[in-house]
Amino acid sequence: MRHIRTKLTLAMSVVAALVLTFTGIALMLNITVDYRRDFYADVKPILQSGTLNADNAAAAFESEQLSDKNCYLFKDGNIVMSTSGGGSVKETDNLRSLLSGGECSETELTDGVLDYGIYLGDGCGVYVTDTKAGLYSQIRGLSWQLAQALALGILLAVLISWLLSSRLTRSIKTLEAGAMRMADGDFSPIRLDTRDEIGSLCSVLNRMGEQIQRDYDEFEREEERRREFVANVSHELKTPITVIKSYSQTLTGMDVDADTRKQFLEIIDGEADRMSGAVSQLLELSAQTRASTLPPEHIDLVSLCRSVADGLNSKGLDISISGEGVVERDPSRVRTIVTNIIGNAIKYTEQGGVDITVCGSVLKVRDSGIGISTDDIPHIFERFYRADKARGRGTGGTGLGLAIAKECADVIGARISVVSELSEYTEFTVEF
Ligand code: ADP
Repeated sequence: MRHIRTKLTLAMSVVAALVLTFTGIALMLNITVDYRRDFYADVKPILQSGTLNADNAAAAFESEQLSDKNCYLFKDGNIVMSTSGGGSVKETDNLRSLLSGGECSETELTDGVLDYGIYLGDGCGVYVTDTKAGLYSQIRGLSWQLAQALALGILLAVLISWLLSSRLTRSIKTLEAGAMRMADGDFSPIRLDTRDEIGSLCSVLNRMGEQIQRDYDEFEREEERRREFVANVSHELKTPITVIKSYSQTLTGMDVDADTRKQFLEIIDGEADRMSGAVSQLLELSAQTRASTLPPEHIDLVSLCRSVADGLNSKGLDISISGEGVVERDPSRVRTIVTNIIGNAIKYTEQGGVDITVCGSVLKVRDSGIGISTDDIPHIFERFYRADKARGRGTGGTGLGLAIAKECADVIGARISVVSELSEYTEFTVEF
């Protein structure tokens, strides 16, 4: 039994049959109760009227109330007149009592026969039993009506379940088709206009589909970032290698004067430095992504900035440090963030100076350098992004410094933001 439609039809038919069976039983019980009540309502008034005697018994037997019953007139224990045509009668408690001149009582249908009698005196008695003809005909009539009702009920059950199941299976089929579509990778929502359990199952599936689609998109983006990263790393390392190779080939293959040789060797040295810097930064980036955090330490931001700035200020820029603030964080990551931001401020500033302000757990580094364009600002934290590619290479940048700083900030729960005006200033704010 594979189809919902068949199951529903069968279930409804069984329900219809059960309802009709119980109704039938109730009606049958009613009929038998009424039958017994009618029997005694017909018999007792006549038998107990006090006017009944052996002479008018025959007329009484033909009366409307007794005509459909078996009536007997007994004289000294023998049947002298009967309406059933038979000369014998089944012996019951009432009959025995009557024949011995006693009184009769009402019996139940379950006793086998309904009977009643009255002793008239002089060895005479009238005894009446039911023929069950009326009862049987009523039961037959009822059974026929029940059979018709059952047939109609089953027909209706089939019809209704057919209609219901058509609607139900239509929703299920839509759902099934949608789920199969999702299994094939199409996560567009399933359209189903029902508010029942199938409707809510549909919205659960749709939500699941949306989530999978989101995860899938994120996975694709991540994959794309990874590909881009690998391409960038390759490019980043290939460029200095190409430069080194071409200059070294020139040096070995050509006769060059001492000045040119020195110049070429300086270029080779610079490119080797750049390559080594890029590799160190890549290692640093991967370490920041994987390394566990160190236990937090009290860090005086002002002294940290001072030591970092002193170590990086090879240009002799005017660097001012003011304010005060202490943070309790992973010291290694805080130092990496501060180093990269102050390092950039010095790297990208030729004139003027750098103002470093500390206020509680907020650090601001503002330089009067070349600035960053509004188009570049959203990308500067991406790996290998250089606002101006030519400029980046010129200044020895790899485009990894801010990505490393951002990675560290994410790990320790800090936030880095930037505002800048091209050729005017750049201000980085770190909220630890
Ligand atoms: P890089 O090694 O190139 O400096 P970063 O990730 O540190 O890489 O910075 C990304 C880019 O953001 C830089 O190439 C530079 O163009 C820009 N940038 C970062 N800091 C500054 C700054 N203080 N002034 C101007 N430009 C900056």
